[in-house]
Amino acid sequence: MAQFDAIFIGAGHNALAGAAHLTRRGWKVGLFEAADRPGGAVKTLELTEPGFRHDLAAMNLSLFAGSAFNKVYGADLAKHGLEFAPVQDCFASVFAGGRWVGVSTDLATTVARIRAFSERDAHTWESLVAVFPARAELIFSILGGPMKKRALARILFSLWRKAGLSGALELGRFLLSSPRAWLDETFESAEVKALLGAWGLHLDFAPDIAGGAVFPYLEGMANQSFGMVLGKGGADTMVKALAAMVEAGDGTIECNARVERVLTEGGRATGVMLADGRRIEAGRAVVATVAPGALTRLLPQGSGEAGFDDKMRAFRHAPGTMMIHLAVDSLPDWFDPELKRFAYVHVAPSLDVMARAYQEAQAGLLPAEPVIVVGQPTAIDPGRAPDGKHILWLQTRVVPAEIKGDAAGVIGERDWEAVRETYADRAIAIIERHAPGLSAKIIKRTVMSPLDLERGNANLVGGDQICGSHHLAQNFLFRPAPGFADWSTPVKNFHLAGAATWPGAGVGAGSGFLLARQLAGG
Ligand SMILES: Cc1cc2nc3c(=O)[nH]c(=O)nc-3n(C[C@H](O)[C@H](O)[C@H](O)COP(=O)(O)OP(=O)(O)OC[C@H]3O[C@@H](n4cnc5c(N)ncnc54)[C@H](O)[C@@H]3O)c2cc1C
Repeated sequence: MAQFDAIFIGAGHNALAGAAHLTRRGWKVGLFEAADRPGGAVKTLELTEPGFRHDLAAMNLSLFAGSAFNKVYGADLAKHGLEFAPVQDCFASVFAGGRWVGVSTDLATTVARIRAFSERDAHTWESLVAVFPARAELIFSILGGPMKKRALARILFSLWRKAGLSGALELGRFLLSSPRAWLDETFESAEVKALLGAWGLHLDFAPDIAGGAVFPYLEGMANQSFGMVLGKGGADTMVKALAAMVEAGDGTIECNARVERVLTEGGRATGVMLADGRRIEAGRAVVATVAPGALTRLLPQGSGEAGFDDKMRAFRHAPGTMMIHLAVDSLPDWFDPELKRFAYVHVAPSLDVMARAYQEAQAGLLPAEPVIVVGQPTAIDPGRAPDGKHILWLQTRVVPAEIKGDAAGVIGERDWEAVRETYADRAIAIIERHAPGLSAKIIKRTVMSPLDLERGNANLVGGDQICGSHHLAQNFLFRPAPGFADWSTPVKNFHLAGAATWPGAGVGAGSGFLLARQLAGG
């Protein structure tokens, strides 16, 4: 008899959520993880000094809090220690001259801030928020469900019934729009457009990329309506609870256990071979939560369908991210102290700055003016740092994995080992324009280049934080490739899940849970 019913390659949150569900359905499950701990891109570590707990990658757990998995298993997760830290002051953007605008859960407060830039936009914001619940139901029915033809037909039919033909067409047009197209149609203030447009870049939607409007919209409306959540004590609260759920059932998680190969027999997956040579059998399913390009190594003979193998090799990654983790004496002295309360402050002053940074990164250049996301987790959850001290989670979006030059013409090196600290200095100098004195507050900093991110987690190819571009040609029915949006592969019992597959990146546990339900029901 096989050792396991199902084997997961990787123990990121998608694998953990899928495994937790399968154990609840009576399956015996094994997870084999290359890293020294589970969690993948969701890890909390003392990256600078003892007592300073940094979220290495994902920090915002709102997608998980709102996920179908959390709806079903929230009580179990809470029993296993999951705790959220709710955020009221969610995100803001800073501009020259000390001006800023931000979204807090108190509607009147947000509206007053927007009114300072445009009376018309303030009214628009209120109208958008008022219709958000009805519209969100339609959008989430598409973004949260399986991407199969029959399921999609059902969703489209119900969309047509609820919204009529013109409503369905309007939603379709919105889903195809670029952030800039929607923002220009909707708002008049350049600052309000920049405030929302920055969320496109959390994925790979620069302002002019078709299909990106929905992300700034959802982030703005959802944060306004429900706030945001971080993990209490660190994002790994979620991973610890998921892992405990798996192990409380018939599940085993083995770390420092890289899977080298998927074992097959007669076109069917039968198990995996680990890097140390051990062969582990699976009777019902092998689920890889890896980047599609990794399949060439896992299936060296190919899948049996050349078309599929070509598509996996051709899978497109998005530009990279660089992370700067800071231990600091106190929060940045923004020109307005109110900004110290926010979970995120974007230094992304205009849609044009964002478009330029994206284009430069795509061309292999270090952006002259990168977009910077300043995460202030200890403003919400002070226990992550020693008394009175703080941590900052800084992202520079977006940077190339392979450096061909510097758009500013200043940095001559081409190797991230040599560039890492210098480029971090550029990012911190940009923040200093809005929060003078930041450098003097730094107790210790740890910078992670795109290549460092990939070294820690092979799925972050070239530092691509979303494991594959989400542009229209690689999303919805086309994620990871046409014909395989249902987590199938040409090898029977072998499935590809994780951020590279539908419904994509983020900590919503989408693909892991949807696939597990497909395999075992429930
Ligand atoms: C810097 C950064 C910031 C982010 N911020 C946010 C955020 O704030 N909010 C949000 O919602 N999302 C965020 N994301 C995205 C989100 O974290 C990811 O999309 C999500 O965690 C992916 O989960 P996953 O389970 O699919 O894969 P991963 O978390 O990538 O896990 C995959 C696991 O598989 C393992 N693995 C790969 N190959 C093998 C092998 N051959 N053998 C064994 N193990 C293997 C890897 O080591 C890894 O642990 C961020 C991502 C990054 C990188």
